[in-house]
Amino acid sequence: RGAYLHMMADAGVSIGVVIAGAVVLFTGWTIIDPLVSLVIVTVILIGTWGLLRDSVDLALDAAPRGVEVETIKAAFLALPGVTAIHDLHVWGLSTTETALTAHLVHDRADADALLAEAQALARTRFSIRHTTLQLESGGALDCADC
Ligand SMILES: [Zn+2]
Repeated sequence: RGAYLHMMADAGVSIGVVIAGAVVLFTGWTIIDPLVSLVIVTVILIGTWGLLRDSVDLALDAAPRGVEVETIKAAFLALPGVTAIHDLHVWGLSTTETALTAHLVHDRADADALLAEAQALARTRFSIRHTTLQLESGGALDCADC
């Protein structure tokens, strides 16, 4: 995304130079040059502020903007047979990819089907394609402290 913004800024500067040059050429109105420069600087600052925020979030492994961890937790708990959830973590792999890990405690006999439902939920409702889900049946494999 940073490379994309950089290229767009370069293109914007080029267009600004052409427009300012044409205006100066045809009207002699030289003040247009610094005015166009200020407009371009403003557009770049506004455009890169979001990238800076996302970069800091990535560096801190924070949940990406627009991802409500509590909402995801409630959605998983609403799946049939899911009785508890722990170790839910959501973090950005990049500015466009999000990863999720969680332990789902369940009482389902068809664990594979539950896994498919949970993955589909993450993918369709929250656009999270990188999921690592541990299914726990509440028996010997349960890890209340993990
Ligand atoms: Zn666990």
